[in-house]
Amino acid sequence: MMLSEIRHWVFDMDGTLTVAAHDFNAIRLALDIPLEEDILGHLAALPPAQAAVKHAWLLEHERELALAARPAPGAVALVRYLAERGVRLGVLTRNARELAHITLAAIGLGDCFARDDVLGRDEAAFKPSPEGLHKLAQAWQVAPAEMVMVGDYRFDLEAGRAAGTRTVLVNLPSNPWPELVDWHAVDCGVLLDKIKPPQRIE
Ligand SMILES: [Mg+2]
Repeated sequence: MMLSEIRHWVFDMDGTLTVAAHDFNAIRLALDIPLEEDILGHLAALPPAQAAVKHAWLLEHERELALAARPAPGAVALVRYLAERGVRLGVLTRNARELAHITLAAIGLGDCFARDDVLGRDEAAFKPSPEGLHKLAQAWQVAPAEMVMVGDYRFDLEAGRAAGTRTVLVNLPSNPWPELVDWHAVDCGVLLDKIKPPQRIE
């Protein structure tokens, strides 16, 4: 199947549709999380009261980032191109759903995604779990193999692989994870060029 034939697209948000703004190590330092540990994984293992305090801090920190979000190169044009062609569009993010909607509005894509098709860390187990992709596949009544997951980090690609979707890596100059990636483009603008006829990729 050519990428241009896929009618169900799921995007990671931060660093994929937006210019990456999270300083994850600064977050780890602020929340007293060892630098080598996954932030959401660490918080999930804490006692509930302690986790709640740190989740609240994270939410406020990410709210500021959401309000200041800027679109990644080509992201708005790509999503609008797909939306105009009736492609089903979803977002699967490790951010919070509420902040995802603020972010999408801030970059000018607030009207392109149905509210229920934006899944945050409270709507599904966070990536690399494939749960969010399974939920979207079920909601859309489509086989995962007919979906594509677009992201900038290995968790996005691992989630796609585990769910059985196709995968696209964007916003890295080269592809460090060839075993996880079906298509690679340096940014969403280049990806759009690839799916627009007549320039297609297999
Ligand atoms: Mg990302």
